[in-house]
Amino acid sequence: IRIRLDQIKKIRNTIDDDDLETMLVKYAMRLKAYIGQRGLVASFGAGEFGVLLESASEMHHAADLISSLRTLFQRPIRMAGTELIGTVSIGIGLPVAGRLTPADMLREAETALIEAESEGGNSFRISDGNYHDNLMHRIQLESELNRATERGELELFYQPIVSIDNGRVKGFEALMRWRHPGRGLVSPGEFIPISEESGAIVEMGTWTLTEAVRQLQDWRAAFPELDLSMNVNVSARQFLESDLVFNTKTCLEHFEVSAQNLKLEVTESVAMGDPDHVREVLEKLKELGVARALDDFGTGFSSLSYLHTFPYSTLKIDRSFVTSIQSNPRNGEIVRLVINLAHSLGMDTVAEGIETEEELDVLREFGADLAQGFMFGRPLSAAETRDFLESQRAAAMP
Ligand code: C2E
Ligand code: MG
Ligand code: MG
Repeated sequence: IRIRLDQIKKIRNTIDDDDLETMLVKYAMRLKAYIGQRGLVASFGAGEFGVLLESASEMHHAADLISSLRTLFQRPIRMAGTELIGTVSIGIGLPVAGRLTPADMLREAETALIEAESEGGNSFRISDGNYHDNLMHRIQLESELNRATERGELELFYQPIVSIDNGRVKGFEALMRWRHPGRGLVSPGEFIPISEESGAIVEMGTWTLTEAVRQLQDWRAAFPELDLSMNVNVSARQFLESDLVFNTKTCLEHFEVSAQNLKLEVTESVAMGDPDHVREVLEKLKELGVARALDDFGTGFSSLSYLHTFPYSTLKIDRSFVTSIQSNPRNGEIVRLVINLAHSLGMDTVAEGIETEEELDVLREFGADLAQGFMFGRPLSAAETRDFLESQRAAAMP
């Protein structure tokens, strides 16, 4: 078990070395008294402790153990007139077959500790014996993702968004893919959360915006009669860390695309991070004339009336809602209400993930405006999308 005091950096900067020493000794004594004959306690300095338990069966009571360890550090320590109540991050390495040496277990515990700390402190992780391997894999992915944009490994696929009444294409959603040199095409579910965490998403998202608008200009010129628009997903960090409004404006000007043909999609979780800032950015995008869609509605926890305090122009109803309508009629009622409410708040609606004729019929009856789903087309490469557009043009010919 590795334990690190979350506040150690702060404490080091505020108290002198003697007091620090005294404090760490106090914690060590408490730990030693608690563990007793059951194992070894070590201090690694810098507010970090290690515990080696004699018997792995202690882990049957891991929850008790963890809460007792936390309590040891939460009991106040009085020093120089102030009182410290600490919290700790805890990483536990389990003895796994083939990895039985104490050094291996310490290493497992260390990687678990790093994971626990990445939660922001006062957290714990128990290693499954693969933390080290998983961590290495992740570090590798992160560094590959950091270079993916400049190496030209990113690609956009396009999924049609159609009018629910007649199935005619209105535009596309640009969906990012990573063409990994060894692994082939990787889906966003696998790499977006990692790039969101590492920050690589900011550069990747800016690339996506530019590429999607460039592509839109190209198709608008080739198929003027279709009056196409483009939806682009924007991540939380892109909202906070890039100058989204400036980038969007510059991009539209550069490619001479008018703002109303671009729609930026954000999920609820984006807004929850820093509501005031997000509201302000959305407001500026609105001034620019860019449409703002709330993505995956129904997967988060906020109410539509709260969401309405943000200036969205479109509500995208999540696939899970659409899919559940058949099996759960109550969800149907909710979707109907959501669509009505969205309309009365001045928003249009997109039904996401329509796969069957039945789903389409229900959503159409409920009054959804647009539809997106495998029934109308899967996400296609740029070349395939062009063929799709040719066929749409042919179908629209009188
Ligand atoms: P999303 O924005 O909600 O995109 C729709 C996702 O649903 C796409 O998955 C699409 O392939 C899938 N989908 C659409 N219709 C159907 C259907 O009928 N059935 C089923 N089973 N699935 C359907 P994809 O391309 O894997 O993207 C997943 C998510 O990754 C996106 O969800 C979006 O949140 C994120 N993402 C994709 N591209 C970007 C990007 O450029 N930037 C950011 N920040 N996120 C992106
Ligand atoms: Mg989306
Ligand atoms: Mg969605």
